[in-house]
Amino acid sequence: MKIKIDQENCIGCGSCVAMANQTFKMNDAGKSEVVNQAGNSDEEILLAAKSCPVRVIQVSDDQDKQL
Ligand code: SF4
Repeated sequence: MKIKIDQENCIGCGSCVAMANQTFKMNDAGKSEVVNQAGNSDEEILLAAKSCPVRVIQVSDDQDKQL
């Protein structure tokens, strides 16, 4: 899986970090960033992406299909 964050539009709510804390971390600017593309299980990462209130986390599979 590939994870991308549109950081410009991240509002820094911390939800993704709370749900998959080995994958997402808050940076010094208060935005989430991916620190390990496979830090959590696929299920946890997908749930974290779905939890984003502004839907700025995109997850795609190895064929670039959006999940
Ligand atoms: S859930 Fe979305 S808005 Fe909240 S910190 Fe993560 S990327 Fe940013």
